[in-house]
Amino acid sequence: MDAFSELRRDIVSGEWVVVATGRAKRPDDFAKAKKQILKQPAEGCPFEILQPEPLVVYSKNSEGWWVQVVNNKYPAFSQSHSAKHACPKITKNGPYEWMEGVGYHEVVVSRDHERNIAKMSDEEVELIIRSFQDRFLAIKKDSCAQYVSVFQNHGLGAGASIAHPHLQIVAVPVIPPDVGQSLEGSKNYFHQNKECVHCVVIKYELHDKSRIVYENEHFLVVTPFASKSAFEIRIFPKKHSPHFEGISIEERFALANSLRTGLAKLHKGLKNPDYNFFLHTSPVNNDSENSHYHWHIEIIPKTAVWAGFEIGTGIEISTIAPEIAAEFLRKIKI
Ligand SMILES: [Zn+2]
Ligand SMILES: [Zn+2]
Repeated sequence: MDAFSELRRDIVSGEWVVVATGRAKRPDDFAKAKKQILKQPAEGCPFEILQPEPLVVYSKNSEGWWVQVVNNKYPAFSQSHSAKHACPKITKNGPYEWMEGVGYHEVVVSRDHERNIAKMSDEEVELIIRSFQDRFLAIKKDSCAQYVSVFQNHGLGAGASIAHPHLQIVAVPVIPPDVGQSLEGSKNYFHQNKECVHCVVIKYELHDKSRIVYENEHFLVVTPFASKSAFEIRIFPKKHSPHFEGISIEERFALANSLRTGLAKLHKGLKNPDYNFFLHTSPVNNDSENSHYHWHIEIIPKTAVWAGFEIGTGIEISTIAPEIAAEFLRKIKI
């Protein structure tokens, strides 16, 4: 008897997810979901102009600026005013521990109010990737920064509050829990199997082909075997590398092409879904311990909300098999 669903185990984290295989929705159903649209006019948009003191600016040939990185006006993490050049320390308060939120919180803004990554050219996306790389390299010089998180929230349902296309860079003085779990899973697999878990996954996915959405010379775009949500996408560099910020110019263009393609297929196939994407890479200030790690990008469309089962158990339910999602996305012409 075929069950309505499968429990699948994530090879890195060891976590179980539920993939609906029997009673699953059809790919088209995800495009029909009603959602609130974040609409703000270009007129009066604060991101339409080059800011007074951008951290970095990138221009297209003779067309003026395309990408600027600025400090977030309402930062979750910032440089400490009291203790300059001192890293935050854990302080005891009775049975509790706390530390100052010292770090960086920056916003990466592309110029066109209407065109997000899905609608850009590879050359335009490459400038965004270049801004990530340059800010990584700059922040890395601060030995207090432990982890640099790069992400995009697109749409109201994904937590965006500004319609103008933008991404964020947040550097924190600790290793975040999800990153720690990904690093730990990768390290454990390496110790047991003497191979990088992500390299094993890439090799298997290239052979199996059922979950491939797209590939180019340097990157593979797939729907993960243990997808946590419907239409989840991962982008892996084919070459083993623990650190995103080490990518070459050629790899930057190939990454821009694979990210743009993945997001453009989602945009067209699911009719502009809200999504979050983020980069998972090694911590910036402890190189030697993470040679087993393999950086990658995870794109999570907002196709479901966490309800009682997910919150109470940590098991997420994907309402479409990743193989069906990949086939659907593969066929979408962009
Ligand atoms: Zn704007
Ligand atoms: Zn690897």
